[in-house]
Amino acid sequence: MKSGDPKTYEVIIIGGGPAGMTAGLYTTRSRLRTLLIETGLLGGQITTTELIENYPGFPEGINGSELSLLMEQQVKRFGLEIINQEVLEVRLEEDRKVVRTHVSDYYSETVIISSGTEYRKLGIPGEDTFIGKGVSFCATCDGAFFKDSRIVVVGGGDSALTEALFLTKFAKEVTIIHRRDALRATKIYQERAQAHPKINFLWNSVVQEIKGDKEVRSVLVKNVKTNKVKEFETAGVFLFVGISPKTQFIKGLVEMDEGGYIITNENCETSVKGIFAAGDCRKKLLRQIATAVGDGATAAFALEKYLEEKE
Ligand code: NAP
Repeated sequence: MKSGDPKTYEVIIIGGGPAGMTAGLYTTRSRLRTLLIETGLLGGQITTTELIENYPGFPEGINGSELSLLMEQQVKRFGLEIINQEVLEVRLEEDRKVVRTHVSDYYSETVIISSGTEYRKLGIPGEDTFIGKGVSFCATCDGAFFKDSRIVVVGGGDSALTEALFLTKFAKEVTIIHRRDALRATKIYQERAQAHPKINFLWNSVVQEIKGDKEVRSVLVKNVKTNKVKEFETAGVFLFVGISPKTQFIKGLVEMDEGGYIITNENCETSVKGIFAAGDCRKKLLRQIATAVGDGATAAFALEKYLEEKE
């Protein structure tokens, strides 16, 4: 394989969130010819996060898009090549990896998968019908449409609580609907949400249906203890019921767990030599920017060692 050929690289990184950008920073500084392929916006999920308070170095917190832009500027300084395409498949061809996008095939000695996760859906009637008409998975993107409205947030994790807190900037009332009577979110978010005058909770409750006409008007909520179903008026439904890894394009090639998260060792090496995984798409304990950045650096370092040993 001639690494000078167009479309032929020493490293291809799939996904340009904090893990992918960090990996790119390290591989380009090691002078490895690197291509980063991203489907959407560089930065991934952080671009839709209003305030990041748990990434060190920003004592007052930082807006997600701002942090992402800083990472992008930094990595571009070292010459990372970035393209905006959708990866459809990764396959092995002799000693090289072939990454097929919706535009072309790209060839590389190594691949880092840092494709992240996406928000899960509930799979209830009305959910798909009203996306963009009151149903949303992004408070930063859509919150401003709900000025002085009554809205609901579904879920009890960090996403649900941080997004609910952000939505209080616009809405007159935010009701968090959670299926249990205890929250999963970090304690500091629980304290803030529970103390917020605009936020209230519907405990032990699940949304069964989202109803409306041209826009969302209400949700049917079932109390799981009493089985009673009530109609709850709302203009918006923000769904934060967990995440799923975006790993379909590599299914069957590398080892994954039952949820589709890629299994690696502590060096971010997957079951296939020369393929690494970093960030939220990897099976691991904690999914945060701090851990994604750590994975990106580890994967890049392990990759460099792999290439050295191969030679
Ligand atoms: P999560 O932690 O998996 O929480 C999902 C929530 O949705 C849980 O409360 C869960 O209920 C509920 N849920 C799941 N399926 C449901 C269903 N079918 N019906 C009703 N409720 C359902 O997901 P997340 O909040 O999106 O967070 C994902 C990861 O990103 C986490 O690691 C989190 O720490 C991280 N994150 C961090 C921050 C931050 O640090 N600022 C912000 C956002 C996200 P149960 O509790 O009953 O399971």
